[in-house]
Amino acid sequence: MTTAQTQELDVQPTPLALLLLGREADPKSERGVECPGDLPSPSDPDLVERARAAKEKLGDKVFVLGHHYQRDEVIQFADVTGDSFKLARDAAARPEAEYIVFCGVHFMAESADILTSDDQKVVLPDLAAGCSMADMATAEQVAECWDVLTEAGIAEQVVPVSYMNSSADIKAFTGKHGGTICTSSNAKRALDWAFEQGDPSATKVLFLPDQHLGRNTAVRDMGMSLDDCVVYNPHKPNGGLTAEELRAAKMILWRGHCSVHGRFSLDSVNDVRERIPGVNVLVHPECKHEVVAAADYVGSTEYIIKALEAAPAGSKWAIGTELNLVRRLANRFAPEGKEIVFLDKTVCFCSTMNRIDLPHLVWTLESLAEGNLVNRIEVDKETEAFAKLALERMLALP
Ligand code: SF4
Repeated sequence: MTTAQTQELDVQPTPLALLLLGREADPKSERGVECPGDLPSPSDPDLVERARAAKEKLGDKVFVLGHHYQRDEVIQFADVTGDSFKLARDAAARPEAEYIVFCGVHFMAESADILTSDDQKVVLPDLAAGCSMADMATAEQVAECWDVLTEAGIAEQVVPVSYMNSSADIKAFTGKHGGTICTSSNAKRALDWAFEQGDPSATKVLFLPDQHLGRNTAVRDMGMSLDDCVVYNPHKPNGGLTAEELRAAKMILWRGHCSVHGRFSLDSVNDVRERIPGVNVLVHPECKHEVVAAADYVGSTEYIIKALEAAPAGSKWAIGTELNLVRRLANRFAPEGKEIVFLDKTVCFCSTMNRIDLPHLVWTLESLAEGNLVNRIEVDKETEAFAKLALERMLALP
């Protein structure tokens, strides 16, 4: 596949349009369920005090997780911050906390439920906080894809590798079919492992659901060519691919992407280099291949934070990731003389992450403090068992 073809695919619309802030229902999506409670008004001047009081009342019974992309007004109440996998593990390491309030999106809360004990209850402050990327691969679509691979006579050679940013159903599919989960930090290790599961020259990987992380890892980190990768489009018959194309491919990339990182373009990189001479361009591997190829550094959210911590005073950085995080890092490192700007000129928040705001957090904490368990995220036992298998394979990666 050429870069131009990749770009062409990316401009097609997201299959599920984003819903307005938690006020509609979409049973086919992991997001879009109405918030059942009476939210406090966003203009209530006592919101911070109310959140503090409710959290204090709950004490050790509650543990609040804050994903890096959350708003500052929410992050201030997080007991710990991090990426989705780190947060799920942090929750599992706090068994005394009966309530895990996950300030993030739905698939993250599911992963926390899978990794925590049965006694711990995971709560998502706004049930409408989903992830558009996770929604791009449904269980039915992936089962259909597997049928296509079976008909092409290659299913036995295919190892699924699913990004953490996927629903519990997709993680369970991955576990059931001998595959592993990966994060943006260990995607190369996961792919190395997958290709070792059979004859490396015949083995193929079905990478779900982020085509960009799959392609960037295969091409940039593992030396494959763009032609080794094909994109399976679940909205086309047979994924839009012939059996010959599937048999020739090493990487079968699901046609999914992050609506936030997918916005950065080669023009954003060229433009920032012109505006800020000497700038270091540092992007997340969920960005398009041409953006990653043009960047100076590429890495996960944790990598980005560590790179900026280690950066010398006076250095200049343009960061291609979610805006809440970039702003926070810019403020944090400004006193050290590090200039940090957002890679693109247009605002680029994760709209679903932003659904978790102070009114939702206050409503959640006050409800829990009053003994009302709200917005619990619970994965059924069978799904949990297979999803856990896939997660455990990731934990055992060398
Ligand atoms: S930043 Fe992208 S991948 Fe992460 S939750 Fe938002 S839409 Fe999903």
